[in-house]
Amino acid sequence: MRPTWVEIDINSLKSNFLQVKKIVGDKVGVVSIVKADAYGHGSIAVSRALVESGTDMLGVATVEEALEIRDSGIKSPIVILGGVQPDEVETVAKNNLIPSLFSISTARAIDKYAQKARVRVRYHLKVDTGMNRLGVAPNDICDFLENLINLRNLELEGVFTHFANAEGDSTDLTIKQIEDFNMMLSIINQARFRPKYMHSANSAAIQRFPESHMNLVRPGIMLYGSGNMGDSELKPVMRLKTKIIQTKRIAVGTPVSYGGTFVASRPTIIATLPIGYADGYIRTLSNRAMVSIKGSTAPVVGTVCMDLTMIDVTEVPDARVGDEVVVFGDEKVSAEDVARWANTISYEVFSIIGKRVPRVYM
Ligand SMILES: *Cc1c(COP(=O)(O)O)cnc(C)c1O
Repeated sequence: MRPTWVEIDINSLKSNFLQVKKIVGDKVGVVSIVKADAYGHGSIAVSRALVESGTDMLGVATVEEALEIRDSGIKSPIVILGGVQPDEVETVAKNNLIPSLFSISTARAIDKYAQKARVRVRYHLKVDTGMNRLGVAPNDICDFLENLINLRNLELEGVFTHFANAEGDSTDLTIKQIEDFNMMLSIINQARFRPKYMHSANSAAIQRFPESHMNLVRPGIMLYGSGNMGDSELKPVMRLKTKIIQTKRIAVGTPVSYGGTFVASRPTIIATLPIGYADGYIRTLSNRAMVSIKGSTAPVVGTVCMDLTMIDVTEVPDARVGDEVVVFGDEKVSAEDVARWANTISYEVFSIIGKRVPRVYM
């Protein structure tokens, strides 16, 4: 096996889930968000652990993601946040998946299938309060409900919205979104729909806006130990590791890697790591990132290649082939550090870790 792998700490994941429960309290349910292969952590193992911890539901982006979890034998309710296409309706109904709905034509397609198959399909209605992405807009909600009333094989189980800036410095937009959501909920109630669940809070809102908790919350990033907005005690779950596969001494003036973007300004010891941008260690990290090795840190030097990355270990005592290197996920280098160096967010750092990097569950 190529010595590059990801360690997933299931106990930390469970502890983060309990942190969410502690913040929201007993009366509020949890849809744990496991889309994008559980933010790169592996959706089946993560879903299993969260079901054991007592999650009420799982949330994914696509029907394929839901099926992968269902096929592994997990029986929990699974909500498909990104909606479904008309040709996926049968799969959704047969696998007891919960679509989110924001289009009347899809609602009609589901209703038609449900009537034919003699089943009732429960769904969550997505409303748009400011993200301007998916969802029924406030101006369209009355018309939408009038059309829904006739679809008798559908059951409105939940209503939800999503925040555009719950982590931002200004709280104005989120407060406005919560107001608009409550306004739409009362219209839905006046139309005699009685959804069991109302939900809006992602990780940032869970921590910052208690009034957004309603009776169900949708944590993603905080389950994975990132996105701490205050005094939550979140533990990192993912640790990306590799091992040195070669070391060499180079003289002053020697360039390293494609394009010679690093040139040694002193006699230097270079160590080569078997990880590159095809593993999700993106090229923007070239000459910017640090890695953790033997209790200290070493800089990435030269351009990150598709399969390999070089680090300068001149100041690491006795660095050798076979030494373990933590790319991120320990006390020295966090996923947030890598995100900062790569000019992105931890969500992306986690979710782009490639398929060829095996996940090892601890
Ligand atoms: C991804 C997602 C979440 C989780 O967001 P975090 O910021 O990771 O907590 C919640 N709701 C929806 C609709 C999402 O797409």
